[in-house]
Amino acid sequence: MHKTVEFCTCTDRECPFHPVNHDQGCTPCIAKNLKEGEIPSCFFNSVDPMKTAERGRYSRGDFVRVVMDMQEK
Ligand code: SF4
Repeated sequence: MHKTVEFCTCTDRECPFHPVNHDQGCTPCIAKNLKEGEIPSCFFNSVDPMKTAERGRYSRGDFVRVVMDMQEK
């Protein structure tokens, strides 16, 4: 059964972990992010929906910086 993730705001549909490319929901994306020390793009999008801040490599540190940047705006 295909699990749709309607709240996913990730626009990288070429990514093999994106929910449109398999039937495992968020699991592959989160597993990859945990392994690589990254934060999923949906979290970046939630604090910066207009994508105004530089996201770097989507690291934990990049996420903290984006949160701080957005709080200053
Ligand atoms: S964790 Fe990944 S797959 Fe799930 S909503 Fe966020 S970006 Fe999309």
